[in-house]
Amino acid sequence: MTTRSVTRTTLDHLLTEIEHRNPAQPEFLQAAHEVLETLAPVVAARPEYAEPGLIERLVEPERQVLFRVPWQDDKGRVHVNRGFRVEFNSALGPYKGGLRFHPSVNLGVIKFLGFEQIFKNALTGLGIGGGKGGSDFDPHGRSDAEVMRFCQSFMTELHRHIGEHTDVPAGDIGVGGREIGYLFGQYRRITNRWEAGVLTGKGQGWGGSLIRPEATGYGSVLFAAAMLRERGEDLEGQTAVVSGSGNVAIYTIEKLAALGANAVTCSDSSGYVVDEKGVDVELLKQVKEVERGRVDTYAERRGSSARFVPGGSVWDVPADLALPSATQNELDENAAATLVRNGVKAVSEGANMPATPEAVHLLQKAGVAFGPGKAANAGGVAVSALEMAQNHARTSWTAAKVEEELADIMNNIHTTCHETAERYDAPGDYVTGANIAGFERVADAMLAQGVI
Ligand code: NDP
Repeated sequence: MTTRSVTRTTLDHLLTEIEHRNPAQPEFLQAAHEVLETLAPVVAARPEYAEPGLIERLVEPERQVLFRVPWQDDKGRVHVNRGFRVEFNSALGPYKGGLRFHPSVNLGVIKFLGFEQIFKNALTGLGIGGGKGGSDFDPHGRSDAEVMRFCQSFMTELHRHIGEHTDVPAGDIGVGGREIGYLFGQYRRITNRWEAGVLTGKGQGWGGSLIRPEATGYGSVLFAAAMLRERGEDLEGQTAVVSGSGNVAIYTIEKLAALGANAVTCSDSSGYVVDEKGVDVELLKQVKEVERGRVDTYAERRGSSARFVPGGSVWDVPADLALPSATQNELDENAAATLVRNGVKAVSEGANMPATPEAVHLLQKAGVAFGPGKAANAGGVAVSALEMAQNHARTSWTAAKVEEELADIMNNIHTTCHETAERYDAPGDYVTGANIAGFERVADAMLAQGVI
C-alpha cells in the first residue's frame, strides 16, 4: 500500500470514530467528512500531521457552552430558548465566529459552523481562532422590544464566556446590527467595561468598522471574479443567480452590479423573485433591512420586470454565475444538474455549506469553478478582525482603506487555495486547496503549542 492509501485508511477510521462520538449531528458530520476527505495528500506528505491525536483534537471543540435563555414576550408570556457557544479552536487567536438566531439551530448546526470557521479564519492569514454560537430563537415577527429582551437574556449568560482576548462573536443568520447593538449594550452594562473588541458588526459611531456589513457579500463576488480571472474571463456582462435576501445576499447583489454583472434573483424561505432588469438593490434594502419585509413585497413594488415565485428553486433560473447566500444545503444535486445544463461557469458560496457534497462533486466534475464557503465568504470574518484591530488601536479606517484590505485578503485567499491545490495534484480544486491550506496553518500552530 502507498503512504497515501495508508493515510486514507487512517482518515476513514477517524471518520467512523467521529460518527460514533457525534450521533444526530448530520451537519457537523457533513462538514467533518468534507474536510477530512481532502486531507490524505497533505497528511501523507507531512508525517508530523499523522501524529496521534492531532486530528482527533481538531474535530473536538475546546469548549461547548449550552444554556437556558428565558425571556418574556410583549404579552408577558415566558418563553425558554436554548443558547449555544462552541469554542472550537484557539490555536491561532481568540475564538471568532458569528451568532445565529434561527429555529433550526441545534448543537450539530453550531458545531458544523464552528468547525468550518477554524479553516476559514486560518485562510484569512489573520490571528483569529474558530467558534460559533446562537440560539433556536426565531426573530421573525418579533417586536424590537421582544428582540431586545431576548438579546439581554442571551448575553446575561454569554458574557461569562467572551472577551476581546477570549472569544469575539459577530452576526450570522437572524443577527444583524440591531441584535449586535442590544447584545453589546447588555455586555457593557453587566461588565461595566467599554470593551469594543468583544463583538464585531457594531454600529458606525460606536466601534463598528466601515464595510463590515458589506464585507461577506463583497468578498464572495471578489472570489468569483478571481476564479473567472484564472480562466481568462471577468464579471462584466455576466448574469448571476443569487439566493437569500439578507445581509450576504444584498451586498453580493450590490457588488455584482458595481463590477458590471447583473443579479437577476433573490429569495427567502417563502420563495424567490426573478427580476429581468436585475435586482434593484436599494429597493431590496428598503424592503428587507428597513421594513423587515419579505421578497414578495419587493416584486410587488418593482413593477413588471419582477415576478415572485412561491416555493420552487431559485436555481432553475438560467445564469452564468450562482452565488448561494442563504443557508446550508440549499443547493442539492438536482439543482447543480440544472445549473450545469444552463451553462453556469462559476459558483461562489456566500453562505456556509450551501451546496451538498453531491452537488459539489457534480459541479466540479462538469468543470464549473467552485469556490467553497470557507474561502469565498471569508471576507466577513476578515473585516471583523480588521474591526478588532481598529478597536484595539482606538481608531477607525476609511471605507476605501477597509475595502482595499478586503480585496487584498480575498485575492490572497484565492491565490493560496489555487496554489495549494496545484501543489497537491488537484489543479482548479478550490475545495482541496482551501481545506489543506487552512489545515496546514492550524495544525502547525497546534503542533507547536503541544498537547492541550
Ligand atoms: P440573514 O439573516 O441576513 O439572511 C438570511 C437569508 O437566508 C434570508 O433571506 C433568509 O430568509 C434566508 N434563509 C435562511 N434560512 C433559510 C432556509 N432554511 N430556507 C430558505 N431561506 C433561508 O443572514 P446572512 O445573510 O448573514 O447569512 C446568510 C448565510 O451566509 C448563512 O449561511 C451564514 O452562515 C453565511 N455567512 C454570513 C456571514 C455574515 O457576515 N453575515 C459571514 C459568512 C457567512 P428568511 O428570512 O425567510 O428566513
